[in-house]
Amino acid sequence: MTIRPETVPMPRALAARPRDARGYPIPAITPWSGGQPHFAEQSSIRTLICLMERRCAVCGTPMARGPVWRMVDGDTAEAVALSLETGKPLIRAAAAAEGPGHRACMIYSAMVCPHLTSPHARRSRETTLALTELPKGLPRGQSAGIAGFDSYRFQLTALGVEIYFGQPVELVTYEQGEQLRAELEAELAHDHRAPQPCPAYLLDDDDAARTTLARLVRAERDGWTPAANRRLERARKDRRRADKAARRKNR
Ligand SMILES: [Zn+2]
Repeated sequence: MTIRPETVPMPRALAARPRDARGYPIPAITPWSGGQPHFAEQSSIRTLICLMERRCAVCGTPMARGPVWRMVDGDTAEAVALSLETGKPLIRAAAAAEGPGHRACMIYSAMVCPHLTSPHARRSRETTLALTELPKGLPRGQSAGIAGFDSYRFQLTALGVEIYFGQPVELVTYEQGEQLRAELEAELAHDHRAPQPCPAYLLDDDDAARTTLARLVRAERDGWTPAANRRLERARKDRRRADKAARRKNR
């Protein structure tokens, strides 16, 4: 069953994105060429930018510190459910190919994306996850879910971008996307802050994305990290404050 995009409340960060003819906002990780988005594909360049800058794969705006969300299904959804139920950590998690996003953006995507609205329709590159011990007698379901994880890390391999998620902190399961409506409405109800604008390099310009990734890689090679940058910024601010205080004293 496909849900019409206009019937689903849209997170504000997504409402600012370019749309396709049907009204679907085009995710930040979707590649563009010839002025057209290629929905079925995922850009490794855009994915890497989002991962390096801690941006949501769907809306392209920054993700706050704390948990990040992704869609899970099949064995992964069951393993996450078991981990949360039993308190046992997830170990040897297989690499994911799709980056994390905001809770609201992931719930919204699960509702409107034709690939995701039914667990059976979902295309998936996920393989298996291993748990230390599987307790007997826990129910197995056919459901998919939106899972929150405490962290993520990633690496570039010959096979592409590999993303590893930390420990699960939440799982919202569903069988049909429509079941997520109340969850999405509740999430949006406390989404008061206006989102930061998405940078141009994660809108419809793949050349800008390519240039940006090259810049990020160069900066990382030269020892620049967001944390280092923040430290620098703080030091600069402290110095300005000290200068100002000194000037005031001298007056
Ligand atoms: Zn988002």
